Amino acid sequence: MKCPICNQGTLHNVDDILSDIEGYMFVLRGTRCSSCQEEFINEKEGQQMITIAKKHGIWQQSLKLHRKLSKSARGTVLRIPTDIEKDLDLKGTETVTISKIGNKKIMVEIE
Ligand SMILES: [Zn+2]
Repeated sequence: MKCPICNQGTLHNVDDILSDIEGYMFVLRGTRCSSCQEEFINEKEGQQMITIAKKHGIWQQSLKLHRKLSKSARGTVLRIPTDIEKDLDLKGTETVTISKIGNKKIMVEIE
């Protein structure tokens, strides 16, 4: 099977994909690209991980929400989705720490 990400490598079955949810590590089966190393988690395994994570209360439904950034005069604005706002009991006056993780991720921590 060809890798849908880089279109060069082939996908190999692996059983050592590490997935981190809120600091809990899960080892999952799936496939990994021989070229770009992109990992694809087996759908069944992924569902199982979510079930386990939910059981332990570490799965946030809002883990992956897609939001568009917007521009304001003072910079780029990311709106916090209402459900996260409620979940975290945000008042909108909190100070946050923003850290860059790799090239495509940022983490926002409420102080
Ligand atoms: Zn690839």
